[in-house]
Amino acid sequence: MIHYTCDLCGRSLKDRDVIYELNIEVHAIYQPLQIDLVDMLKDHTDEIRGLIEELKDKDPQELQDQIYKTFKFHLCPPCQQKYIKNPFAPIDQAGSGDIEDSAPDRE
Ligand SMILES: [Zn+2]
Repeated sequence: MIHYTCDLCGRSLKDRDVIYELNIEVHAIYQPLQIDLVDMLKDHTDEIRGLIEELKDKDPQELQDQIYKTFKFHLCPPCQQKYIKNPFAPIDQAGSGDIEDSAPDRE
């Protein structure tokens, strides 16, 4: 049996509780490349070497996270209700795990 805990409020979820799974996928969107004959005939060797040189000392995980990152959370019913009302509401950093009911005022 898998034991679940609400990732927002920290409440231990019992077998009879409805448990919600929240999957977040963040990925980069790129415009389609426009490749013409000039691009195809050009020698890209120096450009590729430059890219390899630029990336060789970077952290592979950090590079991957810039392109694609997923998160998986489990929520109790009250936190699910708060989340679906405003997924971008800031999470209380004080530790209660409550999602504020409204977004902060913006100037
Ligand atoms: Zn909760």
